[in-house]
Amino acid sequence: MQSPQTTHSFLSGRVIALQGDITAQAVDAVVNAANWTLMGGGGVDGAIHRNGGPSILEACQEIRQTRFPDGLPTGDAVLTTAGNLPARFVIHTVGPIKGRHGEQDAAYLAACYHNSLKLAAENSLESIAFPAISTGVYGYPREEAAAVSSKAIASFLASDDQIKEVRLVFFSASDLRVFLHHQQFPSKQEGA
Ligand code: ADP
Repeated sequence: MQSPQTTHSFLSGRVIALQGDITAQAVDAVVNAANWTLMGGGGVDGAIHRNGGPSILEACQEIRQTRFPDGLPTGDAVLTTAGNLPARFVIHTVGPIKGRHGEQDAAYLAACYHNSLKLAAENSLESIAFPAISTGVYGYPREEAAAVSSKAIASFLASDDQIKEVRLVFFSASDLRVFLHHQQFPSKQEGA
């Protein structure tokens, strides 16, 4: 049983940040910090496949065979069933490995957020939960990732009215603290 969580909200409550486990989120879609193979891995990826069951891997295999025989490019996103998870769908996106794309690292990380939100909106979904993509094994500094992700989400939501709730889920209290300190969500609604 989970204790009640303190949540922090941005953009008039359309975005919330909390400490938690991505696999426990009952939202329309949870985002997986996947790798290009879509065949599972450690961290978030391992937890999603472990808790969601084999139907997620089967759907990923189908996507590899039909749409992405060479693997999912960094920054792209695809949607599958969420299997046994409380979410309805999993959106798999591939974060950048820090340092591999030079000055384009931030653009790739922003693309993960943008393309995941776009895919959710295109599928008429209203709520989506993200882990802190690339900040684990892929080595993206949490401070920089906080700035990049918050700006990408704010920019997407500014021209979208489909997505009602973006939940940012941090595994540890310290990850959440770093995010709250370094996020760059606008503090006031412009034009309100
Ligand atoms: P990447 O390969 O993109 O770096 P990881 O899965 O290694 O992805 O880590 C991304 C972030 O997700 C890290 O901050 C890690 O601590 C966190 N994380 C790991 N497991 C979970 C989980 N079950 N729920 C939420 N966040 C998680």
